[in-house]
Amino acid sequence: MRLTQREAPPADLLITGARLVDGASGLEGVQLDVRIVEGRIAEIGPSLTAEGVETVEADGLTMTPGLVDPHVHLRTPGDEDEEDIASGTRAAAAGGFVTILAMPNTTPVVDSAAVLNGLVTRAAEQAVVGTGFFAAITLGLEGRQLVDMADLAARGAVGFSDDGRPVERAGMLRRALQYSAVTGLKLSLHEEDLSLTAGAQMHEGAVSAELGLHGYPSIGESVMVGRDLQIARYEGAPLHLCHISAAESVAEVRRAKELGVEVTAEVSPHHLCLTDELVRDLDPSVSKMSPPLRSAADRAALIEALADGTLDCVATDHAPHHAHEKEVPFEAAPNGVIGLETAFAALYTELVQPGLVPLATVVERMSRGPAAAFGLPVPALRAGEPANLTLWNLSERWLVGPPYASRSRNCAFAGRMLQARCTLTVAGGSVAHRMAEVAR
Ligand SMILES: [Zn+2]
Ligand SMILES: [Zn+2]
Repeated sequence: MRLTQREAPPADLLITGARLVDGASGLEGVQLDVRIVEGRIAEIGPSLTAEGVETVEADGLTMTPGLVDPHVHLRTPGDEDEEDIASGTRAAAAGGFVTILAMPNTTPVVDSAAVLNGLVTRAAEQAVVGTGFFAAITLGLEGRQLVDMADLAARGAVGFSDDGRPVERAGMLRRALQYSAVTGLKLSLHEEDLSLTAGAQMHEGAVSAELGLHGYPSIGESVMVGRDLQIARYEGAPLHLCHISAAESVAEVRRAKELGVEVTAEVSPHHLCLTDELVRDLDPSVSKMSPPLRSAADRAALIEALADGTLDCVATDHAPHHAHEKEVPFEAAPNGVIGLETAFAALYTELVQPGLVPLATVVERMSRGPAAAFGLPVPALRAGEPANLTLWNLSERWLVGPPYASRSRNCAFAGRMLQARCTLTVAGGSVAHRMAEVAR
Protein backbone atom coordinates (compact mmCIF):
# COMPACT_ATOMS: atom_id res chain seq x y z
CA MET A 1 0.00 0.00 0.00
CA ARG A 2 1.53 3.29 -1.06
CA LEU A 3 -0.76 5.51 1.03
CA THR A 4 -0.44 5.54 4.81
CA GLN A 5 -2.96 6.83 7.35
CA ARG A 6 -3.26 6.34 11.10
CA GLU A 7 -5.77 3.87 12.52
CA ALA A 8 -9.02 5.63 13.43
CA PRO A 9 -12.56 4.43 14.15
CA PRO A 10 -14.44 3.77 10.89
CA ALA A 11 -17.30 6.18 10.27
CA ASP A 12 -20.96 5.17 10.65
CA LEU A 13 -22.99 8.10 9.37
CA LEU A 14 -26.21 8.92 7.58
CA ILE A 15 -25.71 12.11 5.56
CA THR A 16 -29.06 13.44 4.35
CA GLY A 17 -30.04 15.89 1.65
CA ALA A 18 -26.67 16.87 0.19
CA ARG A 19 -26.31 17.83 -3.49
CA LEU A 20 -23.91 15.29 -4.96
CA VAL A 21 -21.36 16.39 -7.58
CA ASP A 22 -19.18 13.63 -9.07
CA GLY A 23 -18.92 13.60 -12.85
CA ALA A 24 -17.22 10.17 -12.80
CA SER A 25 -20.28 8.69 -11.06
CA GLY A 26 -22.69 10.61 -13.32
CA LEU A 27 -23.83 12.88 -10.48
CA GLU A 28 -24.28 16.56 -11.30
CA GLY A 29 -26.12 18.10 -8.39
CA VAL A 30 -28.84 15.59 -7.50
CA GLN A 31 -30.01 15.72 -3.90
CA LEU A 32 -29.62 12.31 -2.22
CA ASP A 33 -28.82 10.63 1.08
CA VAL A 34 -25.58 8.74 1.68
CA ARG A 35 -25.24 5.97 4.26
CA ILE A 36 -21.74 5.11 5.47
CA VAL A 37 -21.31 1.81 7.32
CA GLU A 38 -17.98 0.82 8.86
CA GLY A 39 -16.16 3.37 6.71
CA ARG A 40 -17.70 2.33 3.39
CA ILE A 41 -20.42 3.93 1.31
CA ALA A 42 -23.18 1.35 1.83
CA GLU A 43 -26.02 3.06 0.00
CA ILE A 44 -26.85 6.21 -1.97
CA GLY A 45 -30.51 7.06 -2.57
CA PRO A 46 -33.53 9.15 -1.63
CA SER A 47 -34.97 9.08 1.91
CA LEU A 48 -32.58 6.58 3.49
CA THR A 49 -32.99 5.67 7.14
CA ALA A 50 -30.69 4.07 9.65
CA GLU A 51 -31.39 3.17 13.28
CA GLY A 52 -29.05 4.33 16.00
CA VAL A 53 -26.63 6.01 13.60
CA GLU A 54 -25.45 9.60 13.77
CA THR A 55 -27.24 11.73 11.18
CA VAL A 56 -25.64 14.69 9.45
CA GLU A 57 -28.36 16.92 8.00
CA ALA A 58 -26.73 18.31 4.89
CA ASP A 59 -29.59 20.24 3.30
CA GLY A 60 -28.00 23.13 1.44
CA LEU A 61 -24.58 21.47 1.43
CA THR A 62 -22.72 19.91 -1.51
CA MET A 63 -20.91 16.56 -1.43
CA THR A 64 -17.95 15.82 -3.71
CA PRO A 65 -15.42 13.01 -3.85
CA GLY A 66 -12.55 13.79 -1.48
CA LEU A 67 -9.77 15.90 -3.01
CA VAL A 68 -6.28 14.59 -3.87
CA ASP A 69 -3.17 16.80 -3.80
CA PRO A 70 -0.15 15.41 -5.68
CA HIS A 71 2.31 18.06 -4.43
CA VAL A 72 2.69 19.00 -0.75
CA HIS A 73 5.72 19.91 1.37
CA LEU A 74 5.35 18.47 4.86
CA ARG A 75 8.78 19.77 5.99
CA THR A 76 9.34 16.47 7.79
CA PRO A 77 11.94 15.29 8.63
CA GLY A 78 14.03 18.28 9.58
CA ASP A 79 11.78 21.36 9.75
CA GLU A 80 8.95 20.29 12.04
CA ASP A 81 8.71 23.86 13.35
CA GLU A 82 7.23 24.75 9.92
CA GLU A 83 5.00 21.67 9.43
CA ASP A 84 4.82 18.04 10.46
CA ILE A 85 2.74 15.09 9.35
CA ALA A 86 0.06 15.72 11.99
CA SER A 87 -0.39 19.45 11.25
CA GLY A 88 0.02 19.08 7.49
CA THR A 89 -2.57 16.33 7.19
CA ARG A 90 -4.96 18.24 9.50
CA ALA A 91 -4.62 21.21 7.13
CA ALA A 92 -5.31 18.87 4.22
CA ALA A 93 -8.46 17.49 5.86
CA ALA A 94 -9.64 21.03 6.69
CA GLY A 95 -9.32 21.81 2.97
CA GLY A 96 -11.34 18.77 1.90
CA PHE A 97 -8.37 16.58 0.89
CA VAL A 98 -8.42 12.84 1.56
CA THR A 99 -5.05 12.05 -0.04
CA ILE A 100 -1.79 14.01 -0.30
CA LEU A 101 1.60 13.23 -1.79
CA ALA A 102 4.62 14.70 0.01
CA MET A 103 7.76 15.95 -1.72
CA PRO A 104 11.19 14.60 -0.70
CA ASN A 105 13.27 17.82 -0.42
CA THR A 106 13.47 17.48 3.35
CA THR A 107 16.43 17.36 5.75
CA PRO A 108 17.69 14.76 5.17
CA VAL A 109 16.43 14.23 1.64
CA VAL A 110 14.19 11.18 1.09
CA ASP A 111 16.75 9.33 -1.00
CA SER A 112 17.20 6.15 1.08
CA ALA A 113 15.04 3.36 2.42
CA ALA A 114 15.83 4.44 5.98
CA VAL A 115 14.39 7.95 5.57
CA LEU A 116 11.38 6.69 3.62
CA ASN A 117 10.62 4.00 6.20
CA GLY A 118 10.85 6.58 9.00
CA LEU A 119 8.24 8.74 7.26
CA VAL A 120 5.87 5.85 6.64
CA THR A 121 6.14 4.89 10.32
CA ARG A 122 5.34 8.46 11.41
CA ALA A 123 2.42 8.68 8.96
CA ALA A 124 0.96 5.47 10.39
CA GLU A 125 0.85 7.23 13.77
CA GLN A 126 -0.07 10.79 12.77
CA ALA A 127 -1.59 11.16 9.29
CA VAL A 128 -5.35 11.86 9.35
CA VAL A 129 -5.60 11.54 5.53
CA GLY A 130 -3.97 9.08 3.15
CA THR A 131 -0.36 10.19 2.72
CA GLY A 132 2.12 9.07 0.07
CA PHE A 133 5.79 9.97 -0.16
CA PHE A 134 7.90 10.75 -3.19
CA ALA A 135 11.52 9.68 -3.15
CA ALA A 136 14.20 11.84 -4.73
CA ILE A 137 15.37 11.20 -8.29
CA THR A 138 19.03 11.87 -7.47
CA LEU A 139 20.97 11.44 -4.22
CA GLY A 140 20.75 14.63 -2.15
CA LEU A 141 18.89 16.29 -5.07
CA GLU A 142 22.35 16.96 -6.44
CA GLY A 143 21.69 15.71 -9.94
CA ARG A 144 24.80 13.50 -10.00
CA GLN A 145 23.73 9.98 -9.06
CA LEU A 146 20.36 8.23 -9.29
CA VAL A 147 18.76 6.89 -6.11
CA ASP A 148 18.09 3.14 -5.88
CA MET A 149 14.73 3.46 -7.63
CA ALA A 150 13.88 -0.25 -7.48
CA ASP A 151 14.48 -0.41 -3.72
CA LEU A 152 12.55 2.79 -2.96
CA ALA A 153 9.66 1.65 -5.17
CA ALA A 154 9.54 -1.68 -3.36
CA ARG A 155 9.38 0.17 -0.04
CA GLY A 156 6.33 2.15 -1.07
CA ALA A 157 7.51 5.41 -2.70
CA VAL A 158 4.67 6.91 -4.70
CA GLY A 159 6.92 8.39 -7.41
CA PHE A 160 10.22 10.24 -7.81
CA SER A 161 10.93 13.97 -7.71
CA ASP A 162 13.83 16.37 -7.17
CA ASP A 163 11.25 19.14 -6.59
CA GLY A 164 12.77 22.41 -5.55
CA ARG A 165 15.31 21.75 -8.27
CA PRO A 166 15.22 20.69 -11.91
CA VAL A 167 17.12 17.66 -13.19
CA GLU A 168 19.71 19.86 -14.87
CA ARG A 169 21.51 17.35 -17.08
CA ALA A 170 19.45 15.92 -19.93
CA GLY A 171 21.36 12.65 -19.88
CA MET A 172 20.56 12.18 -16.20
CA LEU A 173 16.88 12.75 -16.88
CA ARG A 174 16.97 10.22 -19.72
CA ARG A 175 18.45 7.56 -17.44
CA ALA A 176 15.98 8.41 -14.65
CA LEU A 177 13.11 7.93 -17.11
CA GLN A 178 14.50 4.55 -18.17
CA TYR A 179 14.86 3.31 -14.57
CA SER A 180 11.57 4.77 -13.31
CA ALA A 181 9.72 3.11 -16.21
CA VAL A 182 10.91 -0.25 -14.88
CA THR A 183 9.47 0.52 -11.42
CA GLY A 184 6.12 1.58 -12.88
CA LEU A 185 6.33 4.87 -10.95
CA LYS A 186 6.39 8.36 -12.44
CA LEU A 187 8.87 11.19 -12.29
CA SER A 188 7.32 14.47 -11.10
CA LEU A 189 9.47 17.26 -12.49
CA HIS A 190 10.17 20.80 -11.33
CA GLU A 191 10.75 22.58 -14.65
CA GLU A 192 13.34 25.34 -14.49
CA ASP A 193 16.43 26.26 -16.48
CA LEU A 194 18.62 27.67 -13.72
CA SER A 195 20.79 29.55 -16.22
CA LEU A 196 17.72 31.63 -17.11
CA THR A 197 16.40 32.12 -13.57
CA ALA A 198 19.51 32.82 -11.49
CA GLY A 199 18.78 35.61 -8.99
CA ALA A 200 15.10 35.83 -9.96
CA GLN A 201 12.67 37.35 -7.46
CA MET A 202 9.45 37.39 -9.48
CA HIS A 203 8.00 37.01 -13.00
CA GLU A 204 9.96 38.94 -15.64
CA GLY A 205 7.62 41.52 -17.13
CA ALA A 206 6.29 45.05 -16.76
CA VAL A 207 5.81 44.76 -12.99
CA SER A 208 9.33 43.47 -12.33
CA ALA A 209 10.70 46.29 -14.46
CA GLU A 210 8.74 48.89 -12.48
CA LEU A 211 9.72 47.41 -9.13
CA GLY A 212 13.33 46.91 -10.18
CA LEU A 213 13.26 43.23 -9.15
CA HIS A 214 15.20 40.59 -11.04
CA GLY A 215 12.84 38.60 -13.24
CA TYR A 216 12.18 34.88 -13.90
CA PRO A 217 11.15 34.78 -17.57
CA SER A 218 8.45 32.43 -18.81
CA ILE A 219 11.06 30.70 -20.98
CA GLY A 220 12.96 29.82 -17.78
CA GLU A 221 10.19 27.24 -17.36
CA SER A 222 9.02 26.46 -20.89
CA VAL A 223 12.39 25.60 -22.44
CA MET A 224 12.84 22.93 -19.76
CA VAL A 225 9.29 21.67 -20.31
CA GLY A 226 10.05 21.40 -24.03
CA ARG A 227 13.34 19.58 -23.41
CA ASP A 228 11.84 17.10 -20.98
CA LEU A 229 8.84 16.35 -23.19
CA GLN A 230 11.18 15.62 -26.10
CA ILE A 231 13.18 13.21 -23.95
CA ALA A 232 9.99 11.52 -22.72
CA ARG A 233 8.75 11.20 -26.30
CA TYR A 234 12.05 9.71 -27.41
CA GLU A 235 12.00 7.19 -24.53
CA GLY A 236 8.28 6.47 -24.79
CA ALA A 237 8.12 6.97 -21.02
CA PRO A 238 5.42 8.74 -19.00
CA LEU A 239 6.16 11.79 -16.89
CA HIS A 240 4.40 14.36 -14.72
CA LEU A 241 5.11 18.10 -14.72
CA CYS A 242 4.87 20.16 -11.53
CA HIS A 243 3.23 23.58 -11.14
CA ILE A 244 2.99 24.77 -14.76
CA SER A 245 2.79 28.57 -14.68
CA ALA A 246 3.47 29.99 -18.16
CA ALA A 247 1.40 30.14 -21.36
CA GLU A 248 4.44 28.91 -23.34
CA SER A 249 4.63 25.79 -21.14
CA VAL A 250 0.92 25.10 -21.71
CA ALA A 251 1.56 25.22 -25.46
CA GLU A 252 4.40 22.68 -25.08
CA VAL A 253 2.19 20.31 -23.07
CA ARG A 254 -0.68 20.65 -25.55
CA ARG A 255 1.60 19.86 -28.48
CA ALA A 256 3.17 16.88 -26.70
CA LYS A 257 -0.25 15.42 -25.90
CA GLU A 258 -1.22 15.75 -29.55
CA LEU A 259 1.94 13.83 -30.42
CA GLY A 260 0.94 11.07 -28.00
CA VAL A 261 3.43 11.76 -25.21
CA GLU A 262 2.17 10.27 -21.95
CA VAL A 263 2.36 13.49 -19.95
CA THR A 264 0.26 14.71 -17.06
CA ALA A 265 0.61 18.20 -15.65
CA GLU A 266 -0.48 20.15 -12.60
CA VAL A 267 -1.28 23.80 -11.91
CA SER A 268 -1.56 25.57 -8.57
CA PRO A 269 -4.54 27.53 -7.23
CA HIS A 270 -2.33 30.61 -6.80
CA HIS A 271 -1.26 30.58 -10.45
CA LEU A 272 -4.91 30.10 -11.49
CA CYS A 273 -6.22 32.91 -9.30
CA LEU A 274 -3.49 35.53 -8.88
CA THR A 275 -1.04 37.50 -11.04
CA ASP A 276 2.28 39.30 -10.63
CA GLU A 277 0.34 42.50 -9.81
CA LEU A 278 0.13 41.08 -6.26
CA VAL A 279 3.89 41.43 -5.89
CA ARG A 280 3.49 45.24 -5.78
CA ASP A 281 2.70 44.89 -2.04
CA LEU A 282 6.17 43.37 -1.57
CA ASP A 283 4.88 40.90 1.02
CA PRO A 284 6.91 37.72 0.45
CA SER A 285 4.63 35.78 2.79
CA VAL A 286 1.82 36.20 0.24
CA SER A 287 3.40 36.56 -3.19
CA LYS A 288 6.90 35.06 -3.32
CA MET A 289 7.02 31.57 -4.77
CA SER A 290 8.74 29.51 -7.48
CA PRO A 291 7.60 29.47 -10.19
CA PRO A 292 6.40 33.04 -9.63
CA LEU A 293 2.93 34.51 -10.12
CA ARG A 294 2.75 35.37 -13.82
CA SER A 295 0.93 37.82 -16.09
CA ALA A 296 -2.83 38.05 -16.66
CA ALA A 297 -2.31 36.44 -20.09
CA ASP A 298 -0.50 33.48 -18.50
CA ARG A 299 -3.31 33.14 -15.96
CA ALA A 300 -5.91 33.10 -18.76
CA ALA A 301 -3.96 30.37 -20.60
CA LEU A 302 -3.77 28.26 -17.42
CA ILE A 303 -7.52 28.56 -16.81
CA GLU A 304 -8.29 27.57 -20.40
CA ALA A 305 -5.91 24.60 -20.14
CA LEU A 306 -7.46 23.45 -16.86
CA ALA A 307 -10.92 23.62 -18.42
CA ASP A 308 -9.96 21.67 -21.57
CA GLY A 309 -7.87 19.07 -19.73
CA THR A 310 -4.44 20.03 -21.09
CA LEU A 311 -3.62 20.52 -17.42
CA ASP A 312 -4.85 17.35 -15.69
CA CYS A 313 -4.81 18.35 -12.09
CA VAL A 314 -4.57 21.01 -9.45
CA ALA A 315 -1.72 20.81 -6.92
CA THR A 316 -1.27 23.23 -4.05
CA ASP A 317 2.55 23.05 -3.79
CA HIS A 318 1.76 23.72 -0.09
CA ALA A 319 5.10 25.15 1.09
CA PRO A 320 5.15 26.20 4.75
CA HIS A 321 7.77 28.61 6.06
CA HIS A 322 8.32 29.90 9.55
CA ALA A 323 7.06 33.49 9.99
CA HIS A 324 10.50 34.87 10.86
CA GLU A 325 11.86 33.53 7.57
CA LYS A 326 9.24 35.48 5.61
CA GLU A 327 9.36 38.65 7.76
CA VAL A 328 12.38 39.96 5.87
CA PRO A 329 12.83 42.11 2.75
CA PHE A 330 11.27 40.56 -0.37
CA GLU A 331 14.65 39.76 -1.92
CA ALA A 332 15.83 37.85 1.18
CA ALA A 333 12.72 35.69 1.73
CA PRO A 334 12.43 32.03 0.75
CA ASN A 335 9.95 30.91 -1.95
CA GLY A 336 6.63 29.25 -1.19
CA VAL A 337 3.10 29.64 0.15
CA ILE A 338 0.75 27.30 2.01
CA GLY A 339 -2.43 26.33 0.19
CA LEU A 340 -4.18 23.20 1.46
CA GLU A 341 -6.89 25.00 3.45
CA THR A 342 -7.77 27.52 0.71
CA ALA A 343 -7.35 25.58 -2.57
CA PHE A 344 -10.94 24.59 -3.26
CA ALA A 345 -12.42 27.85 -1.93
CA ALA A 346 -10.03 29.90 -4.07
CA LEU A 347 -10.98 28.01 -7.23
CA TYR A 348 -14.68 28.11 -6.36
CA THR A 349 -14.51 31.86 -5.78
CA GLU A 350 -12.27 32.83 -8.69
CA LEU A 351 -13.12 30.24 -11.38
CA VAL A 352 -16.50 28.63 -10.68
CA GLN A 353 -18.49 31.66 -9.51
CA PRO A 354 -17.48 33.91 -12.43
CA GLY A 355 -18.41 31.07 -14.80
CA LEU A 356 -14.86 30.40 -16.09
CA VAL A 357 -14.76 26.67 -15.21
CA PRO A 358 -17.73 24.46 -14.22
CA LEU A 359 -17.80 23.08 -10.65
CA ALA A 360 -17.77 19.47 -11.88
CA THR A 361 -14.56 20.15 -13.84
CA VAL A 362 -12.82 21.71 -10.83
CA VAL A 363 -13.86 18.69 -8.75
CA GLU A 364 -12.51 16.32 -11.42
CA ARG A 365 -9.16 18.12 -11.64
CA MET A 366 -8.82 18.06 -7.83
CA SER A 367 -9.85 14.44 -7.30
CA ARG A 368 -9.90 11.90 -10.14
CA GLY A 369 -7.28 13.81 -12.19
CA PRO A 370 -4.42 13.73 -9.68
CA ALA A 371 -5.33 10.24 -8.39
CA ALA A 372 -5.25 8.83 -11.93
CA ALA A 373 -1.97 10.60 -12.75
CA PHE A 374 -0.22 8.61 -10.01
CA GLY A 375 -2.21 5.37 -10.21
CA LEU A 376 -3.90 5.94 -6.84
CA PRO A 377 -7.41 4.84 -5.84
CA VAL A 378 -9.92 7.35 -7.27
CA PRO A 379 -12.34 8.73 -4.65
CA ALA A 380 -15.89 8.18 -5.91
CA LEU A 381 -19.44 8.73 -4.62
CA ARG A 382 -20.58 5.20 -5.31
CA ALA A 383 -21.99 2.39 -3.15
CA GLY A 384 -19.30 -0.15 -2.27
CA GLU A 385 -16.46 2.39 -2.32
CA PRO A 386 -14.44 3.32 0.77
CA ALA A 387 -15.78 6.63 2.12
CA ASN A 388 -13.48 9.33 0.73
CA LEU A 389 -15.74 12.35 0.49
CA THR A 390 -16.11 15.99 1.40
CA LEU A 391 -19.11 18.13 2.35
CA TRP A 392 -19.01 21.81 1.35
CA ASN A 393 -21.02 24.84 2.28
CA LEU A 394 -20.77 26.64 -1.05
CA SER A 395 -22.54 29.73 0.27
CA GLU A 396 -20.28 30.35 3.25
CA ARG A 397 -18.00 33.36 2.87
CA TRP A 398 -14.94 33.50 5.08
CA LEU A 399 -11.93 35.71 5.63
CA VAL A 400 -8.67 33.84 5.13
CA GLY A 401 -6.34 34.31 8.08
CA PRO A 402 -5.11 32.72 11.28
CA PRO A 403 -5.68 30.41 12.99
CA TYR A 404 -4.63 27.90 10.32
CA ALA A 405 -4.52 24.14 10.83
CA SER A 406 -1.11 24.35 9.18
CA ARG A 407 1.76 25.21 11.48
CA SER A 408 2.71 28.06 9.12
CA ARG A 409 0.71 31.05 7.87
CA ASN A 410 2.42 32.20 4.66
CA CYS A 411 -0.80 31.99 2.64
CA ALA A 412 -1.24 33.56 -0.81
CA PHE A 413 -4.93 34.23 -0.07
CA ALA A 414 -4.42 35.76 3.40
CA GLY A 415 -6.73 38.71 3.96
CA ARG A 416 -9.13 37.75 1.14
CA MET A 417 -12.78 36.82 1.39
CA LEU A 418 -13.33 33.42 -0.20
CA GLN A 419 -16.56 31.54 -0.72
CA ALA A 420 -17.06 27.78 -0.08
CA ARG A 421 -15.96 26.07 3.09
CA CYS A 422 -15.33 22.45 3.96
CA THR A 423 -17.63 21.27 6.73
CA LEU A 424 -16.85 17.52 6.83
CA THR A 425 -14.09 15.34 5.41
CA VAL A 426 -14.20 11.55 5.56
CA ALA A 427 -10.81 10.16 4.52
CA GLY A 428 -10.07 6.45 4.17
CA GLY A 429 -13.37 5.69 5.89
CA SER A 430 -12.76 7.82 9.00
CA VAL A 431 -13.87 11.34 9.89
CA ALA A 432 -10.75 13.48 9.39
CA HIS A 433 -12.29 16.95 9.78
CA ARG A 434 -15.60 18.44 10.82
CA MET A 435 -16.94 21.87 11.60
CA ALA A 436 -18.64 21.70 14.98
CA GLU A 437 -22.01 22.95 13.77
CA VAL A 438 -22.49 20.17 11.21
CA ALA A 439 -23.08 17.44 13.76
CA ARG A 440 -26.66 17.09 14.96
ZN1 LIG B 1 8.83 23.00 -7.54
ZN1 LIG C 1 7.08 22.12 -4.51
